[in-house]
Amino acid sequence: MATVFARRPLLAASTTAAAISTVLYLSRPKPFLADSAYRGPTKTLAFPKSMLFAQSLTVVKSEQINHDTKKITFSLPGGANESSGVPSSSAILTQHTPQNAWFPVFRPYTPISSPDDLGTLQLLVKKYPAGRASGHLHSLNPGDKVTVRGPLPGYAYKPSLTQDRSVVLIAGGAGVTPIYGLARAILTEHAGDRTKVQLLWGVNGSRDIVLKGELEDLERRFPERLSVVYAVSGEGVGESGKYRKGYVNEGLLSDAVGECRSQGASWGDEKGTKVFLSGPPKMEDAMTGKGGVLEKLGVTKKEIHRF
Ligand SMILES: Cc1cc2nc3c(=O)[nH]c(=O)nc-3n(C[C@H](O)[C@H](O)[C@H](O)COP(=O)(O)OP(=O)(O)OC[C@H]3O[C@@H](n4cnc5c(N)ncnc54)[C@H](O)[C@@H]3O)c2cc1C
Repeated sequence: MATVFARRPLLAASTTAAAISTVLYLSRPKPFLADSAYRGPTKTLAFPKSMLFAQSLTVVKSEQINHDTKKITFSLPGGANESSGVPSSSAILTQHTPQNAWFPVFRPYTPISSPDDLGTLQLLVKKYPAGRASGHLHSLNPGDKVTVRGPLPGYAYKPSLTQDRSVVLIAGGAGVTPIYGLARAILTEHAGDRTKVQLLWGVNGSRDIVLKGELEDLERRFPERLSVVYAVSGEGVGESGKYRKGYVNEGLLSDAVGECRSQGASWGDEKGTKVFLSGPPKMEDAMTGKGGVLEKLGVTKKEIHRF
């Protein structure tokens, strides 16, 4: 084996890189290992609990849904009777080796499809200028394949069946995918769950809003349990109270926190997590850094989950 690698430095380098990346991901602290145990036993799962084995997904459809984002639908290797089993808010890791590159590129993406959807898995991918993984995913056509591993740990959400409680979900830009997955899991996955969700989503312009139909559908179905507010810092503020001009700032958060406190309900889940956050580093730092917005509102670091 050593001689093979000695004769093929490229193979040795890629194998080492893949092994190191896998070990790094596997050795991250895992508050939760993706678990689909509560789901029906009749289906096969495309993503059992190990990252070690790669899967090959086939592109079925690729739709441009706004100026920089595509919704890509993949078929699962096990066919129409298989579900992904990737828990809501967990991610999968894509892998591809760019032309003329020595090392593969690994990137996490959070499926927007439900863990139970049969036969398919959907990703929402924002394209970054010169983005290696996002550019590759945007270039895929129906029939093309992509190598993925997973799932990567998300958040171990448990329902509240006996008492009312509230949580605040904050998304920034393309960071909405795990936040959407968590909101959908809270609202739809456990009958009798008494958890309410305040979702605040900051975008640069209203053209960056994706999953609007899906969020509106959840709001229609659960008017007492979900409230969504869009904070639009740039162009195109939409109709009335749903849209606020500016960032997700202290004023907006203080309203959401006040709403949680005023409901007389318990604020936060059974682990004490009150705020769930997924956004670009600058936004997350403004929220959670020393003297940041959440600290000013009395929310401690232990009470915040960052995806
Ligand atoms: C747990 C997790 C889940 C994720 N889920 C999704 C998802 O569902 N959908 C999705 O589109 N993305 C998601 N991402 C981000 C994704 O993994 C990649 O980081 C992103 O697609 C950029 O990768 P790239 O290879 O295209 O860009 P790179 O080649 O790494 O970078 C190209 C350029 O883009 C800039 N850039 C890269 N990432 C960002 C960023 N986040 N904000 C601003 N500039 C950036 C770089 O600075 C660089 O200039 C997730 C990230 C994490 C950690």
